[in-house]
Formats: sequence, structure tokens, C-alpha cells
Amino acid sequence: MPPPEGPVITDVIAHPLTQSLPKPTVTSWGAYTEVSMVLIEVRTDTGITGIGETLARFSPLAYADLIETSLKPRLTGQPAHAIAAHWQTMRRALSGRSGGMLFEAIAGVDIALWDILGKSAGLPVATLLGGQGRRAIDVYAAAVNWVDDAAAIDELQNYFDRGFTRIKVKLSTPVPDACRRIELLRNHAGDNIGLCVDANWAYSLDEAIVVGQALAANGFFWFEEPLKPEDEDGYRELRRRCDVPLAAGESNYTIDQAAPLVTSRTLSILQPDVARSGGITETRRIADFAYAHNVGYAPHIGMSGIVCETASVHLAAAMPNFRVMECECDESPFKTEIADLAPGCLRQKNSRLDVPTGPGLGLDINWDAVARLRTKA
Ligand SMILES: [Mg+2]
Repeated sequence: MPPPEGPVITDVIAHPLTQSLPKPTVTSWGAYTEVSMVLIEVRTDTGITGIGETLARFSPLAYADLIETSLKPRLTGQPAHAIAAHWQTMRRALSGRSGGMLFEAIAGVDIALWDILGKSAGLPVATLLGGQGRRAIDVYAAAVNWVDDAAAIDELQNYFDRGFTRIKVKLSTPVPDACRRIELLRNHAGDNIGLCVDANWAYSLDEAIVVGQALAANGFFWFEEPLKPEDEDGYRELRRRCDVPLAAGESNYTIDQAAPLVTSRTLSILQPDVARSGGITETRRIADFAYAHNVGYAPHIGMSGIVCETASVHLAAAMPNFRVMECECDESPFKTEIADLAPGCLRQKNSRLDVPTGPGLGLDINWDAVARLRTKA
């Protein structure tokens, strides 16, 4: 007897959304005052609708056009549950090496297909993944911004007051200022708070060695994206020259791009973003590959919305090498307004976050908020 094929895809709708940030996020790239995303809706003939999210910080209308003109025609009329097959079909929508907008677009559709699978089965995505069965996961606060010393101390104190026991700090140049900030925050935090750093590619190799040595001396638990992601030789040299664990991976689109720094054990922690790295299907492949090489998995969220965050929670609950998940705390309508589930930064207690138990991702979308946040053409 053939297996039941389940619901058939009838429509793929891309909702481009843009929000102003009430308080700018300040990294080595500068201050973000506005950010975008694309919410994906995949409809089926059974009435089940899946929700996904595409990482599209800028130009969301271009992503929405790509999804509706190049991905939707490949999916409508197809059985929704053949997710890996759809992934390969969508990948062929553009030629050339893997990467860029197409893979972020695929990510959003893929997450929505997993949501449909979970709703069809009446099970949370974490359960469908057949993983570790965690009911709560460890999270860290992101982030103390690259602002002046007094403001940085205030932000750190705010995370203590909210109960976080692990906190990420943004660093940039000049290097002497970064090294002073490392000592200042460690002294203020004491030894019982976990601290890590994200440089968002701020450094040359020479600079990263100096900062990395200061981080190791002050017991920081990782040094994230010290160098641009293409500089793989630089990462390998940095690994030899300082003792702080290196973390990266949010800039990768596929397992092929993640592989070189995993097989060489250059990275201790791999940080794929499910809304960029090809969705749940490819992110699980990446996390499993890291597991096979004794490398940890720590989901990246950044300025994405509640759908990306929730899909990441399900992956975190399932994967054996999960270490800790980013909990972005800057105020964001993408996290607080577009679904009924409060964001992790408000739900966490003592840096622990419960895993949603509803079918699929466990989210109900507030379509009024989606309409309100729609990108102006
Ligand atoms: Mg980062």
C-alpha cells in the first residue's frame, strides 16, 4: 500500500515586513534603526497552513518576489510532506554555487513545510525531529551593545536583573578599547556569570589575536565571528594563537560552507541561523555534521522574528550537540507582535526557556500585526 501523501500545497505567500527599532542595535557594522524580514505562508488543500520566516534584513520586496515567482510555481500541487525533495527542487531555482537570497528564501518555505508536517501529525516539530526530548533549553542574553562604558555596564546590569546567567557582548575597534571593555565587564559580572563576545568581523588577524588572548585571560566562553567568514586560513591561525573557543556559522548558507572549519576543529561552536541556513532541513544537517566532529551547536537568532526563534527552539530541543541558544533582547515588534507566543527574552527564567508543546511550531499568527508591519513599496 502506498504511503499517505498528506496535504497538497495550494499556495505560497510571502509577506515582506519592516519595523523601526525603538532602540538601535549597535555592532561593529554600525547602528541598525530599521530591519526587515519575510513571513512565509504555505497553504494546503486540507486547510492546514504552515508559517515560516526568511532572513531578509534589507530589500524584503526582492525576497518576496523571488519566493512568489521562482519557488511557488515549483511547489503548488505537490504533496507538502516531501520536504527534502522540495528543498532540492527549490535549490535549482537559481544556478551557480549555493548561497545568498535563494537559500534564505528556501529557509522560510522549509520552516513552513515543517510546521505543516507537525500540524498534520499533531506533534511539535521538536518531537518530529526525533531528538533529545528536552522540555527546556539554555539561553544567553544578546547583547551588550558597542556603546560607551557607562551604557554598557547599564545594559549588563539590566540582563542580570532579568535573571540571565549568560550574556553576549558586542566588541569592535579600536583594540585597546575592546580589551579594556573585556576587563571592565568581567570585573562587573564576577566569576559566576558566563560572558561571550561577538565581533561581527571587526578584526584583522593580528587584532583578533590580541583580543582573543584578553578573552581567554578573562574566562569568556566564546569569541564569535572575529574575522570575516571567507578568511578560513585566518580562523585556523587564530585557533593556534589563542585559547578562547571560536564560534561562527551565522554567515553560512549550507553544510558545504560550514564544513571546512568543522572538519579541521577550528570552531568549537557552530551557529547556523535557521532562517538563513536553508531552514530546518539544512540546519539539522549542519548540526548533525558538527556533532559528528565533536563541535557544538548554538542557534543564531539576531534581529529575526518569533518564527525564526521558535523554529530554533525546536531544533535546540532535539539536537544532541546543542549547547546554548541566542536570546535577542532588543525590543522588536517582529518578536512581540506577529504571533501569540511571547518571545524568549520575556519567557526565559534564569537563562532557561520552555519548548512550545503545540503542534508544528506552536505559533498562532496575528494577521492584523502582519498587515500593520507590511513593507511600504
Ligand atoms: Mg553574531
